[in-house]
Amino acid sequence: MSKYDRYHKPALGVRYDHHPAFGAEWCFAGGKKNDPKTYTVTMTARGFQCDCPGFKFRGKCKHVNQIGDCLVSPIGWMIS
Ligand SMILES: [Zn+2]
Repeated sequence: MSKYDRYHKPALGVRYDHHPAFGAEWCFAGGKKNDPKTYTVTMTARGFQCDCPGFKFRGKCKHVNQIGDCLVSPIGWMIS
């Protein structure tokens, strides 16, 4: 199962495990200029998760927001 017990759920009532992008991962370049990092957003059956420090701390971050906003829009749901 998942590393954390926090999930970002942009669309309530949506079955993520039925979404075409279920199980997909999105990588973001992040971190500081002298300490670059890559963060990964994952779509799980219960919502989105990110491995950046902000998500671990708050249960949400700009990465999951960005993916969530994209995927729950009517256009996003049609992309598979
Ligand atoms: Zn993040």
